[in-house]
Amino acid sequence: DPSLSEADPHLYSLIIKEKERQFKCLELIASENFTSRAVMEAVGSCLTNKYSEGLPGKRYYGGNEFIDEIETLCQRRALSAFHLDDKKWGVNVQTLSGSPANFAVYTALLKPHDRIMGLDLPHGGHLSHGFMTSKRRVSATSIFFESMPYRLDESTGLVDYEMLEKTATLFRPKLIIAGASAYPRDFDFPRMRKIADSVGAFLMMDMAHISGLVAASIVADPFEYCDVVTTTTHKSLRGPRGGMIFYKKDPVLDMDLETAINNAVFPGLQGGPHNHTIAGLAVCLQHAESPEFKAYQTQVVSNCRALANRLVELGYKLVSGGTDNHLVLVDLRPLGMDGARAEKILDMSSITLNKNSVPESDCIAVADFIHEGVQIAIKAKDSVKGKKLNDFMEAVKSPEFNLKESILDLKMRVEGMTTKFPLPGV
Ligand code: PLP
Repeated sequence: DPSLSEADPHLYSLIIKEKERQFKCLELIASENFTSRAVMEAVGSCLTNKYSEGLPGKRYYGGNEFIDEIETLCQRRALSAFHLDDKKWGVNVQTLSGSPANFAVYTALLKPHDRIMGLDLPHGGHLSHGFMTSKRRVSATSIFFESMPYRLDESTGLVDYEMLEKTATLFRPKLIIAGASAYPRDFDFPRMRKIADSVGAFLMMDMAHISGLVAASIVADPFEYCDVVTTTTHKSLRGPRGGMIFYKKDPVLDMDLETAINNAVFPGLQGGPHNHTIAGLAVCLQHAESPEFKAYQTQVVSNCRALANRLVELGYKLVSGGTDNHLVLVDLRPLGMDGARAEKILDMSSITLNKNSVPESDCIAVADFIHEGVQIAIKAKDSVKGKKLNDFMEAVKSPEFNLKESILDLKMRVEGMTTKFPLPGV
């Protein structure tokens, strides 16, 4: 068989370009990570060839003796990585990603049009937590279920638990969802548990963003209080793209969660599991129990604090004033700036907003680079007043626009910094 570079040179060259982009730019998107070479080997293995509908020992296809071992190993490592007793907790490792994992939980626990409450997307929640606008039900989770989001207290940037409690008492949701895509603070699980119990609701945590930090025991542990915990596997956990659903083994609100959730994944929503991903996940979960993983996650959090502190020193307003985890949210509104323009200029300067594990002193330089990019964006915005984002981009790119030089200068300095950190192979 020819290699990829021989069989499809065009596609191969695009992968190499993307690899170079990842290598040169400062990747700061909080939902991304650089997985390990070992995980990539498992994901690129022969396991992609195999069908194995069903669960270990109960498959609808033959030839699954090794696949059964791989999936069982992955489940065992998942429970162990999150310090769970296998008599009390079970896990499904077959969901294809975070959104399908959440939807599988909803279809398992709820009837169509049952009520759910998750954090509103503009306040940091995820699409799959019931997002809708005043005009449109955007996510399938708000089309098939009735959603009433809870929100932040805008004066503190923290979840408004009081309002959540009052609204829950009136709305009487069947499910309350903790977890977020852009919330730099811990959730108050004991308080959410109390609210869920007071209205007879299930409590679920979507720990997609922070699962690496949970495994390393450096943020609040959702398992003590929640009935179900979902996660993606490719964010702070540093695994392949995928999802997991953890469920309590004892019945909750008279429901057998294990049967309901496993049936919701297959045959409810999916066919054959992606065995190559499950194998990659098993590799990642083994790593998640190592002392290096704990040191890495600890470093991520201290890097993030250093970045946040420097941004505050530079005069930026941070949502909630700081961070407990791996993400920092800068409120650009006091600068008369918006995220879209700042993002474009930073992109052109080789800063893709996200996080990476770099030593703390370098985080100060990262904050300074971000500051420079935002200053360039402010200057550019003023010089093309009142125009749309596309006009802004045209103006910024045009040769006569004198900001091109400062963007280029910033880009070269960022790329000089990032070449210090090697990435695994293709
Ligand atoms: N849940 C949360 C909290 C997320 O932030 C995300 C993605 O960013 C998801 C779920 C969805 O994951 P996926 O993109 O794998 O569907």
